Amino acid sequence: MIEKIMSAKDKEILKTGEVESIDFKPRKGSFYWEKCEGCDEVVFLYGLKVINGKHYCISSSALKN
Ligand SMILES: [Zn+2]
Repeated sequence: MIEKIMSAKDKEILKTGEVESIDFKPRKGSFYWEKCEGCDEVVFLYGLKVINGKHYCISSSALKN
């Protein structure tokens, strides 16, 4: 399931070419998620922390503070 979501997202990035402009609006019919910069885990919206424009899971964001 994760793999499916990832390839869909890759396509979207290729299409827009603007990785940095992703906002926090959940897309219809899919969960919003980002990859954690700290541990490379997939982090869903409810656990997502943004530090200096980078995405972290809760435990990695705690290490950053
Ligand atoms: Zn993390």
